Amino acid sequence: MEINNLKQGFILTNSDLYEVFKCGNSGGMRKSNSTNSLLIISDHTKSLYDDRWEEDTLYYTGMGKAGGQSLKFMQNKTLDESNENGVNIYLFEVFNTGEYIFRGEVKLVDKPFQEEQIDVEDNLRKVWIFPLKIKNVEKDIQLKDLENIIEKRENKIRKLSDEQLIKNIANSRKVSSKRNVETTTYERNQHVVEYAKRRAKGKCELCEEEAPFLTKDKQPYLEVHHIQWLSNDGEDSITNVAALCPNCHRKMHALDLEIYKSKLNEKVKGDLND
Ligand SMILES: [Zn+2]
Ligand SMILES: [Zn+2]
Repeated sequence: MEINNLKQGFILTNSDLYEVFKCGNSGGMRKSNSTNSLLIISDHTKSLYDDRWEEDTLYYTGMGKAGGQSLKFMQNKTLDESNENGVNIYLFEVFNTGEYIFRGEVKLVDKPFQEEQIDVEDNLRKVWIFPLKIKNVEKDIQLKDLENIIEKRENKIRKLSDEQLIKNIANSRKVSSKRNVETTTYERNQHVVEYAKRRAKGKCELCEEEAPFLTKDKQPYLEVHHIQWLSNDGEDSITNVAALCPNCHRKMHALDLEIYKSKLNEKVKGDLND
């Protein structure tokens, strides 16, 4: 296979990547001098956090797994200078280990900027964020790929200690990430979801009745609702979510009554101070 024959949505293996691009075989950014290309790999299986999308812009975190990142470091430099150096940049996304989905050729659309993120050693550090766009979107990723990853991550997040969960929340953005798929979906912070369920202790935060049933995993079945909807710019934060029984959840959506909203606002504030 040749680079020019790649079509958006093609799934490659790690060794395909090496054969097509003549690049290194590990890392999130892989440079190849012989094909004058830089591969950007957004691997959703690796972290409890995700590269952030805002509509059609990917905010990609640069190279360097621990400590502060430098814009002069290896491929950070290549990417930073990519509008002048003539290197072609290609994006791949991974939703299942070993499956690299080709998303297309991308372009740096704005100046890289710095942001705080936690590193592999759990320390807060400064990273460089590169705003990237796919040049011609022919095929969006599939909703089921995203849902798949969310489910895997949920199981991991459930196993976090309360302390770690709260730390992760403190270090995450309070703005929900959203991206274009076959339909646009909001990626809720699963730490916030898990927090709300723990806070509710098995009881609906509106009617205060026990959850109607246990899930297959023996968890009380409650649905986490955003008091101010994400689609109305509601925050993805622990003070804007409530764990509800399905009846109350439907009621909130069907009636959208101010009286219930204020009740929930009071309730989640009260519970935080318990
Ligand atoms: Zn209820
Ligand atoms: Zn809801």
